[in-house]
Amino acid sequence: MLQQTQVTTVIPYYQQFLARFPSIAALAAAQESDVLRQWEGLGYYRRARQMHAAARAIVDQHQGVFPREIEAVRALPGIGRYTAGAILSIAFDQRQPIVEANTVRLYSRLLGYDQDPRSGRGQALLWEFAESLLPRKRVGEFNQSLMELGSEICTPRQPACDQCPLATLCPTQAQGLQDRIPALKKKPAVEAIRQACVVVWRNNRVLLRKCGDHERWAGMWDFPRFDLQTQRGAALRKELEEKVVEMTGIQIRPGTRLTTINHCVTRYRIQLICYEATHEAGVVGGNQLAWVRPARLPEYPLNVTARKICEKLRSADRA
Ligand code: SF4
Repeated sequence: MLQQTQVTTVIPYYQQFLARFPSIAALAAAQESDVLRQWEGLGYYRRARQMHAAARAIVDQHQGVFPREIEAVRALPGIGRYTAGAILSIAFDQRQPIVEANTVRLYSRLLGYDQDPRSGRGQALLWEFAESLLPRKRVGEFNQSLMELGSEICTPRQPACDQCPLATLCPTQAQGLQDRIPALKKKPAVEAIRQACVVVWRNNRVLLRKCGDHERWAGMWDFPRFDLQTQRGAALRKELEEKVVEMTGIQIRPGTRLTTINHCVTRYRIQLICYEATHEAGVVGGNQLAWVRPARLPEYPLNVTARKICEKLRSADRA
């Protein structure tokens, strides 16, 4: 949960998640939609799907007991070298190194490494360095101390070198290169895009679509959503009709604009325009589409903007 997410945001999710799924067996037995519903609002939903898949793999392949061998841990869905090292060192005191965002910065500075630490060569060097530092005992505490040192003292800007216990060993501090090490990644340019979401009505129910495995919100539900090319008038109506048919097979009659939500996702600044529409023809087949009564929308895992659209429907007395 903590990947890319702050501790204060995670704590209530963590508590609710553990109350709902108190063991690996309980998580493995859960429906994916229940797991995603618990995760809703935390973002990066792939993490939830992979944790769920990992719980199932532990039950199927390891009799429900978390494995202790590094290869077996790394074979679990969603677990890479850092996560495996963190689990095995912190939970089982194994001599496993870790390299993550805070220690990348710390190690780069302690090595005086001014090249890109994300490159293959940089990664190999940092992992080798992390391994060479490991003590024989209390490895978990040691690894956590280094992460803490990176996050609290050796900060990206203006590190507190005067409080750093490693200052006398640090070539970056000696040469005053803290602003240049580690080499910063170029930030990608922000791109503005327009998208549409369509709330299609049929007999007081709305159309939801389950996102496919290769989509951003895989496994979650959403209103039909797509990039918009046109601005207004007949061309816009035609585009809404065509894109909804393409995504769902359902023919619609576009109605009015319900709301506009401006939000950012990674490097995209998105203007999301939500329209209402009525069902004209077509049936939903399979389990990737559903007509849902508004009162039952809380049962479906939705992304943040889809949930906002539900709230808008409620406040506009549409649901
Ligand atoms: S001396 Fe400064 S730059 Fe070097 S490791 Fe410590 S905090 Fe980081």
